[in-house]
Amino acid sequence: MSDIDPKTPIKTDTKLAHAGRDPASFHGFVNPPVVHASTVLFPDVETMRPGGQKYTYARRGNPTTDSLEEAVKELEGAEGVLLANSGLNAVSLAVLSCVKSGDHILITDTAYHPTRHFADKVLPKFGVEVDYYDPALGADIAALFKPNTAAVFTEAPGSLTFEMQDIPAIAQAAHAAGALVLMDNTWATPLFCKPLALGVDLSIQAGTKYIVGHSDAMLGTIAASERAWEGLHELHGAMGCHVAPDDVYLGLRGLRTLSVRLERHQRNTLDVLAWLQDQPVVAQVRYPGLDTDPGHAIWKRDFSGASGLCAFDFVAGTTRDQANTFLNALKIFGLGYSWGGFESLAIPVKLKGSRSVTPVDESRCSIRLHIGLEDPEDLINDLSKALDKAFG
Ligand SMILES: *Cc1c(COP(=O)(O)O)cnc(C)c1O
Repeated sequence: MSDIDPKTPIKTDTKLAHAGRDPASFHGFVNPPVVHASTVLFPDVETMRPGGQKYTYARRGNPTTDSLEEAVKELEGAEGVLLANSGLNAVSLAVLSCVKSGDHILITDTAYHPTRHFADKVLPKFGVEVDYYDPALGADIAALFKPNTAAVFTEAPGSLTFEMQDIPAIAQAAHAAGALVLMDNTWATPLFCKPLALGVDLSIQAGTKYIVGHSDAMLGTIAASERAWEGLHELHGAMGCHVAPDDVYLGLRGLRTLSVRLERHQRNTLDVLAWLQDQPVVAQVRYPGLDTDPGHAIWKRDFSGASGLCAFDFVAGTTRDQANTFLNALKIFGLGYSWGGFESLAIPVKLKGSRSVTPVDESRCSIRLHIGLEDPEDLINDLSKALDKAFG
């Protein structure tokens, strides 16, 4: 951020508006250009030596990618940030950057299902041993470390079931054992949780969600601590990763309004859940931002806000048919994967095959909701009509 005196401490919202921008370098235009590129020209052969000029080939970065990386780096307080072409790509690159053949990795049982799929299908092929652990483990995770444990993967709150994790305790145990710590922080974004400040080495964002924020592009970001940066940078370069500049630009554009959007997602979610938890057919709502949630104390200690993703369980005895009737009756909530855009979404929660060390009640009917930026009264009406249709 070269348009603000680096000696003046600035708050997060100001960073969001200014980080990664340098208007003076682009004739005063507020935003960086979208640089469509492959070849970069050199003035002479002498300049073609390593380090001879800032940009050498577009795969290694251009002013558009630099701008987003720099902005996220400031938000995350990272040594360095690299972009990935999806959130899942950010997960797989981050994991691969810290394991090698013969290593062991511990992964939270509540990880995003495609993360689990990557760990189960790809890592064993390269001789990396995978074990899942209960997300409720804090310092006690120390007992699961082996001499070859290279990394611990965390995600909070847990995918679909929203369990919080004691990240600082896990990080302390991991570092004592010489292992790196990864966190999928997509739910909170670097605005509501700062993984590196909690001891995490690789902070992962599915930028597809709140950073892009408008359901119109896919992106991932990986922010590394000093300890993890070299390995990440090396792997990212060797793999030939590159994100198209138009998508990077959509990420930058989304990032500028992240704070105002998240604030509204949070407020709307609290409004909708306050109503939902009083409905007789709802047994439980899952959202660490509520003081009734089992993860609330950790959330309050480590996070500064809650986003728009939550879930609820219908009362025991609810049939799949009733849950499906409810979902099909929704008019404002769309049925669709992903989340983090401006619009509200709903999906049925399917846990079959996605947990191996924590018990799940597969008879439980749960719904995951993303609460968008619509008027919460309309969202409540939509849910209410759909409940009436399903339960009479
Ligand atoms: C969506 C999501 C991802 C993957 O992001 P994509 O951009 O869809 O690949 C990773 N982690 C979490 C927690 C997610 O919700």
